[in-house]
Amino acid sequence: MDENLNETISDLKSYLEYLKGMGISSLPNSESNSGNTVRSGILTLAEVRKEIGDCKRCKLHRARKTIVFGEGNEKARLMFIGEGPGYDEDVQGRPFVGRAGQLLTKIIQSINLPREEVYITNIVKCRPPQNRNPGPDEIQSCHPFLMKQIRVIQPKIICALGTFSAQTLLKTDTKITALRGRFYDLEGIKVIPTYHPAFLLRNPERKREVWEDMKKIAEWLNNNERIKEME
Ligand code: URA
Repeated sequence: MDENLNETISDLKSYLEYLKGMGISSLPNSESNSGNTVRSGILTLAEVRKEIGDCKRCKLHRARKTIVFGEGNEKARLMFIGEGPGYDEDVQGRPFVGRAGQLLTKIIQSINLPREEVYITNIVKCRPPQNRNPGPDEIQSCHPFLMKQIRVIQPKIICALGTFSAQTLLKTDTKITALRGRFYDLEGIKVIPTYHPAFLLRNPERKREVWEDMKKIAEWLNNNERIKEME
């Protein structure tokens, strides 16, 4: 049998075992799975984290040290979504704490926001071995939880960091160079893709474009803050 298929079957088996261990003996149908947060009863990030549990839904669980759920303000107006944890994030259990993370912190501060005021997470919550790209099956396994995080936080703007984040959130395979710097819609939330900070470390000359994108975010947030104050 095809090796990938074997691996998928083994992952599926361990996921079903895991569910059984939690006392879940039947799977919801797709209709009940597609519900919004209120219907699915999930109202807090702590509940989303609890639902993830000691996740073995995809093969990334095999090499990970920690599930890097995300951190920040549960009521953030601005959310950043990266690709997946790297070495430092896997060790510390926090998103964007390595070199790319330090640059992200500076990017956030460049629009006069403290890092604690935004929410930061990733498309996949476990480190892909050797920092390889996350696979479509791995992205798929994590996606329902990312959507629940988004629906709990209900940010005004999501800044999608890099190709995987932008393409996953916008369900497209358009290149990041073409996507960046514009606002798109996801369930009524504005999504603006920009370059990943790790890409900026390798290509510092592209920082100017990220600065342009951050200015658009700041401008939108400032304008809407003023409108709210006038209400
Ligand atoms: N790169 C990411 O995409 N996410 C992290 O958390 C760290 C590095």
